[in-house]
Amino acid sequence: MKMDNSTLKQLLTEYSSKRNKKISEAKDRKEQIYSKNPRLQEIDDELSSYAIQTAKSVLQTNNKNLLNELNFKKETLLKEKEEIYKDLNIDSSYFYPHFECNMCKDTGYITENYRSKMCNCLKQRIFDIEYNKINSFDISKYSFADFSTDLYSSEANVEKYNSPVSPKANIEIIKKIANNFIKNFDNPKEKNLLFTGNTGLGKTFLSNCIANELLKENKTVLYQTAPIMLDSIIEYRLRKINKL
Ligand SMILES: [Zn+2]
Repeated sequence: MKMDNSTLKQLLTEYSSKRNKKISEAKDRKEQIYSKNPRLQEIDDELSSYAIQTAKSVLQTNNKNLLNELNFKKETLLKEKEEIYKDLNIDSSYFYPHFECNMCKDTGYITENYRSKMCNCLKQRIFDIEYNKINSFDISKYSFADFSTDLYSSEANVEKYNSPVSPKANIEIIKKIANNFIKNFDNPKEKNLLFTGNTGLGKTFLSNCIANELLKENKTVLYQTAPIMLDSIIEYRLRKINKL
């Protein structure tokens, strides 16, 4: 993939500040809860002191009675902590950083088979900047839920539509094909899709819906700059500029 190095550098800077922000937000959440519930801090302090005592007793004395006692104290404290969490209507995940990408924890990289590789979220960002050039284009607003087949005529007319089925029945078949395409995307035997037809039939909308679904599944999407797609981007940009 041909790529401007500065794009990656810029993105990694963005990732690292995004990640630091999420970590510091988590820290703030913890400090806030702990300042209102000082008992939580006491419990944590006691728990870490027990952990050290446990390690020491295992290494030095291996005193079973002491170990049991420490374990019992630990369990009691953990239960108390759970009760406080329950009262506050939170669980331990409340204190974790809420990263945008759970795969790479906003680092941009994941480890697979002891190897570091670029996460799909970062790959997609690079694709968007380098190829798709549509950073301002929000694909998430294209969803199958909004793709209403009611807009299509249910009249079957061979002469008018050049088909024995109605446009509505036809688009429903196409929708089914599109859904199967998404479902079987990883199957190498699955064939590509090509939509042809006049403007205004919903080809762009349908393609964007498919792209959106694939993005949700952490797949990478590359937009081909076919004139029809360009049209819609230019139209979108114009609308955006008009809004300013
Ligand atoms: Zn990621």
